[in-house]
Amino acid sequence: MRPPATSAPVLATTRRDLAAARAGLAAPVVLVPTMGALHAGHRALIRAAGTVAGRAGSVIVSIFINPLQFRPAEDLDRYPRSLDDDLAMCAAEGVRAVFAPTAAEMYPGGRPEVTVDPGPMGQVLEGEFRPGFFRGVLTVVLKLFHLARPDIAVFGDKDAQQLALVRRMVSDMDLGITIKSVPTVRDADGLATSSRNSYLTPGARAQALAIPRALHAGGARAAEGAQAVLAAARHVLLAEPGLATDYVAVVDPATFTPVGPGHAGPALLVAAATAGTTRLIDNVSVMLAGPDTEGHPRDAADH
Ligand code: AMP
Repeated sequence: MRPPATSAPVLATTRRDLAAARAGLAAPVVLVPTMGALHAGHRALIRAAGTVAGRAGSVIVSIFINPLQFRPAEDLDRYPRSLDDDLAMCAAEGVRAVFAPTAAEMYPGGRPEVTVDPGPMGQVLEGEFRPGFFRGVLTVVLKLFHLARPDIAVFGDKDAQQLALVRRMVSDMDLGITIKSVPTVRDADGLATSSRNSYLTPGARAQALAIPRALHAGGARAAEGAQAVLAAARHVLLAEPGLATDYVAVVDPATFTPVGPGHAGPALLVAAATAGTTRLIDNVSVMLAGPDTEGHPRDAADH
């Protein structure tokens, strides 16, 4: 593990502060973009960033609740905020700089007119259920990349479609930044850690546990093919009547299009569902062994 820094991270709230802090950082500079309310999943990203930065390099954590990726009916106003605790975690993990700008600092001209078009991968699954979401995400990530100028940036497998889109943006736009990913961190009961888990009542949390259970049940059928994986996951989700499922699908990890019934090789089982008032997403990777036994001709997606 990376030793704690000898001093607390610099807290930069303006782009000017960040530029000044960035000028003093030794390469490689590794950025961990977050929306704050840091939890064990973020800690894993920060530790991975520390490992790739090495003793000589530097980690920057950004904390910014990006209004561009929230629709009016979503939880922008009540999204959890805990800057003091976040700074304490960053200090304990040896982070050199924390960039925590206001919305006015990030978007001094108001909502940007020029934004990043996420392309076809941004229209499906999360993109379908949260119109404009990935445009907002990629636009802020690109801005953060320009402001922090990292050599490497770290993202979580938990938000697999976002990770795939960031990789695609880096490649399509020749950004020259290495993207590292970190496996999903889960609580002891299997639920993926998330800042939004704090919204869950005990009852809603019990319902939400059907999501990791469904992913586990699906993953256990990988040897039988995509249709079997999907059917097993759906079965578990449908058995939890309190849960409103947006989608469950078996997709190609690079494109997020559903894999065909006979597909063999790596795939992702992805799901999104609302427990109580809290919308959650999760995924697991599955290694599909070949055509499923029944060979239904439909796509391995279910809406
Ligand atoms: P957020 O603050 O929710 O925007 O997440 C910031 C980063 O942390 C993203 O790259 C997420 O994928 C990652 N992340 C969030 N939750 C987890 C988790 N449970 N395990 C691993 N990474 C996570």
